[in-house]
Amino acid sequence: MSLDTIPHPAGRASDELVPSRYALQVGQIEVLVISDGVLPIPAPIMAHNVDPAVRAAWLDDMFLPPEMLDWPLNVVVVRSGGQTILIDAGLGMDPDLELPRAGRLVQRLQAAGIDLASVTDVVLTHMHMDHIGGLLVDGMKEQLRPDLRIHVAAAELKFWEAPDFSRAFMPPGFPDALQRAAKRFVSLYGSQLRPFEEEYEVAPGVVVRRTGGHTPGHSVVRLASGGDRLTFAGDAVFQVGFDRPDWHNGFEHDPEEAARVRVDLLRELAATREPLVATHLPFPSVCHVAVAGGAFRCVPTVWDY
Ligand SMILES: [Zn+2]
Repeated sequence: MSLDTIPHPAGRASDELVPSRYALQVGQIEVLVISDGVLPIPAPIMAHNVDPAVRAAWLDDMFLPPEMLDWPLNVVVVRSGGQTILIDAGLGMDPDLELPRAGRLVQRLQAAGIDLASVTDVVLTHMHMDHIGGLLVDGMKEQLRPDLRIHVAAAELKFWEAPDFSRAFMPPGFPDALQRAAKRFVSLYGSQLRPFEEEYEVAPGVVVRRTGGHTPGHSVVRLASGGDRLTFAGDAVFQVGFDRPDWHNGFEHDPEEAARVRVDLLRELAATREPLVATHLPFPSVCHVAVAGGAFRCVPTVWDY
């Protein structure tokens, strides 16, 4: 039998070399990390408050290219207490930005056997396009349930009414695209939004908590069940943030506060020894946090597959 005759129920997605999903269990909570693809980002965006030579040396030490980096984009699906929760939605497709290597969420959910109509809740860590864009893809809303609940910090919704980009450092075109995406999102899903102030338990053991920093309403999701824990850190920490937690990422709207949030979270996770998953760490990004002098280390967990 030739490979071509094997039925591919999920269409092209199953032709991919790697399945781009990784399942783990946190007590009774089922967790699936899904890759939305990668996003090429100019290297200076990753650390815009440091000497270019220092940044170049760090990139070289990390075996990363000097000019353009492939920024991983992870999304998480959680099942708890009969609810299916999508945490962030990936990049989607903005016709004005040429970013064809991300925005794979729909195909990859399909390939994982997750029906969009089974999603009861969406939790947004924040409203940057690489976290809400998947909800803006043509035909997406029609496939989602009409009673879908979307949880996002009230401070985040408020921020995007008149967003301040004065402290951010983004590639050209991004501020406009981000504002456009946030506006479209609110107009499309306004009636389904369930804003929370500081903290909200979305399902048993699934708590979203506002941190601020990256954006004023940036939030992390804490999972806890039967003594197991896991934190989805969203954009509170990037790859460079372990070694150099004080380096400012260009997408941070309040970089000093973002650095404080990062250090506090990494310190806490190092103390509690609970694992972490984050949006822009290399897939599947499940790691423990260790303290290394004045910095941190991301210690990958062993894949169980
Ligand atoms: Zn992001």
